[in-house]
Amino acid sequence: MMLAVDVGATRLRVAVGTPDGRILRKIVVNTPRSGGKLAVAERIVEIASKLLGERKPEAVGVASIGPLDLGRGWVVNTPNNPIRSFSLSEPLAEALASRVILANDCMAAVWGEHVYGLGGGLGDLAYITISTGIGGGFMVDGHLLVGWRGNAHEIGHLVIDYKSNTRCGCGGRGHWEGLASGSGLPRLASLMAQQYRYESTAWSKAVEGRLSSREIYLYARRGDSFALRVIDEANRIHAAGLAGVIASYDPRLIVLGGAVAVRNHDLLIPGIRRYLEEYSLHKPPRIEVSAFGEDSVLMGALAIASHTPPELERFSFNPRK
Ligand SMILES: [Zn+2]
Repeated sequence: MMLAVDVGATRLRVAVGTPDGRILRKIVVNTPRSGGKLAVAERIVEIASKLLGERKPEAVGVASIGPLDLGRGWVVNTPNNPIRSFSLSEPLAEALASRVILANDCMAAVWGEHVYGLGGGLGDLAYITISTGIGGGFMVDGHLLVGWRGNAHEIGHLVIDYKSNTRCGCGGRGHWEGLASGSGLPRLASLMAQQYRYESTAWSKAVEGRLSSREIYLYARRGDSFALRVIDEANRIHAAGLAGVIASYDPRLIVLGGAVAVRNHDLLIPGIRRYLEEYSLHKPPRIEVSAFGEDSVLMGALAIASHTPPELERFSFNPRK
């Protein structure tokens, strides 16, 4: 029995699963956003005891928001949780008396796609999450890309529009995430609303700065001309970002995950494909949405626990006793 943990910006998912990729039981709660450096680890242990009772997991896979310091097993200075820096690997290894393997969420997810999912056996694979933020995980020549502290994945901060004044959550201008992620899309919409006038409900809301990312897709489905225009622009931005991914990593397959992609792939993928033809250096590879829905990071956590890639093995933590 493996323990799989997804430490998200808003949700903490903890599950028990088997090495062949079955999730047996899962508990989802809000990620602690206050307390000390051990608050998140302690919450995970509490849920694990509900799931496992007296049993001890064979291994624990933890897929987390970053940035990470894998050598110490910490999340360090994350913009996505007010606790900012917290320890995961060591307190979990001690409390659960088990080996702990920590990875960035998208890094784990690409490994999950390789082991259990659409990337089955492929050695050149990209996983891109389009969610509140945008991130990526990559395999090249059969190797998982990790980086020296575990942060080889900050693809959402690629500059897509160097003339843009739109600031990303990180402070940079014209970033992929700042323009077209779940959190960036409303900014893009209000910018576009100021440029042209549309006879549309979505336009009126965007002008007042109260059009959410979810509503943009909702109105587009109802045929709202402005919402469709915003989505077309966002698809162009995604295509530009993915062209950078293709030029950098030469993947055979790009798997899209994250709530925005999973819920709206029908509106995303055809548009992205069309623009990618214009932007990409090579003939674009296949683009598919993850078959794991909103569990793709959790499946990644299960995969790094049960089929630990050598690139993460050296960062695993064992209990002292
Ligand atoms: Zn950024």
